Amino acid sequence: TDRFVAPFRDPELGRRLLGAIARAARPGRTYALMEFCGGHTHAIARHGLPDLLPAGVRLIHGPGCPVCVLPVGRLDMALALAARPEVILTTYGDLLRIPASGGDTLFKARSRGADVRMVTSSLDAVALAAAQPDRQVVFMAIGFETTTPPTAVAVKQAEERGLDNFSILSNHVLTPPAIDAILGGSGAPRLDGIIGPAHVSTVIGWGAYQDLAARHQTPMVIAGFEPLDVLQAVHDLIGQVNAGRAEVGNQYARAVSRDGNPAACALVEALFEPRPDFAWRGLGRLPRSGLKLRPAYARFDAEARFELTEPEGREPPGCACGEVLKGATEPADCPLFATRCRPESPVGACMVSAEGACAAAHGHRRAP
Ligand code: SF4
Repeated sequence: TDRFVAPFRDPELGRRLLGAIARAARPGRTYALMEFCGGHTHAIARHGLPDLLPAGVRLIHGPGCPVCVLPVGRLDMALALAARPEVILTTYGDLLRIPASGGDTLFKARSRGADVRMVTSSLDAVALAAAQPDRQVVFMAIGFETTTPPTAVAVKQAEERGLDNFSILSNHVLTPPAIDAILGGSGAPRLDGIIGPAHVSTVIGWGAYQDLAARHQTPMVIAGFEPLDVLQAVHDLIGQVNAGRAEVGNQYARAVSRDGNPAACALVEALFEPRPDFAWRGLGRLPRSGLKLRPAYARFDAEARFELTEPEGREPPGCACGEVLKGATEPADCPLFATRCRPESPVGACMVSAEGACAAAHGHRRAP
């Protein structure tokens, strides 16, 4: 791995890039740049990039943490499902610790006797359904465009194996509608540019953002996760802002193409369709921003199979996750940060997830 990442952590190149950024940033002008993705938030915190940039260049974290943006009501739905004796609820690890209404979690449900199991792949859930034909196995599916194709593969595999005891609780969401909402004034600060997501863009391609950049007259640069990737994206964004351009740049050309992965997109398109709207923590209900299975696959849809409805969830009292997720509040400005809310005893979702802004800020705090 070192061989591949070392060139993107080279200190001398970093110094040169920082010099180029300092020369490009105009004195007295502010450049507010949002990194959409939680992976970037962690890279930025880990390498201390804000301290290295000129004073006028501000990095603002965005909502690109799939576990964090899941609203409490969806977690309440999962808890209701897990309480059914016939159900084995499977999901990825982070979700087990995210507080639902009243501070309940899937971990706590498991300690009460619910059959909640952690999986590392959607296909593990399919294998479990095949091995337990007298139980209903539900995979709580979550994530942006990167994780939807593996969920689609699981549904296809369940169909091919003729499993009638496998279904998914789909919480898959789409990146462009969230960027649209942020640039359209959802309570986020005014932004001069966006550092675009890396993994999501390998699937949907950089071309998927061209309309957004043009419509909101805001430049975007897709970037990788290493420090030099982020610095180069910052440099390119400043250049676009100075020139009055609003284009989509692709710094992450080693992994992202204009069209992404058409086969993965076609598979998702065949199985999923946009919901009329979907609730996001912090951003509210956004039109056509969440995915559900198409009617042809309704028998694999847990919401239809178990007649689930999404309750009005209650956010943890005092938690500012909603504001943190749109970049309106810094994690350290939340009164619970590092006091009542810590990684080992999180109050809100942003402190649980490996991609959460509060976890990043906490994990990479510098001594005063
Ligand atoms: Fe929520 Fe904890 Fe972050 Fe505060 S520090 S916003 S309580 S996750």
